[in-house]
Amino acid sequence: MHTLESDDLVTLVNEWGTRPREEAGEGDEAFPDPRTAGLAASEDTDVLVRTADRLHPVFAAPTPRDRVRQLDRLIAETGVTVHLRSDDAGHAHEEWVPARSADALLVAALRTLADVVVLRGAQTIGVCGGQECVDAWIDSPRGRPRRYCSTQCAGRARVAAHRRRSREDAR
Ligand SMILES: [Zn+2]
Repeated sequence: MHTLESDDLVTLVNEWGTRPREEAGEGDEAFPDPRTAGLAASEDTDVLVRTADRLHPVFAAPTPRDRVRQLDRLIAETGVTVHLRSDDAGHAHEEWVPARSADALLVAALRTLADVVVLRGAQTIGVCGGQECVDAWIDSPRGRPRRYCSTQCAGRARVAAHRRRSREDAR
């Protein structure tokens, strides 16, 4: 495991993470097939849950600066070392190697997140501001700034705000 697409990373955090599942009332439901997150079907559930639970606080940290701090702390915890590999022509690429092989998936996720916040800033990651939803999201590169994990949550919040306003007007 060397890389993890950002969509797959978000799926991992939201479908296996304890907080997103409980907030959505899905705590007792079966986990999906790991292939929905681009992972091997044989991937160990405990590893997926543990990895998701360590990643969710990065998204949930209150400010962009806190998200970077959380991410930095997690990277340090894994004791990752960075290696440069190259082909014969000298075209090099980085390899992030965890101190413990059990952290391979976590390190792949951390690398993806580090790329996102270094290139685009930590305001491009966060958790949903919807009711009964703390799902993680990563902005698409050219999308508008967002507050919700999905159009469903954004729509629900809009309806709730509208109801609140009409209730107040009726008074
Ligand atoms: Zn949501």
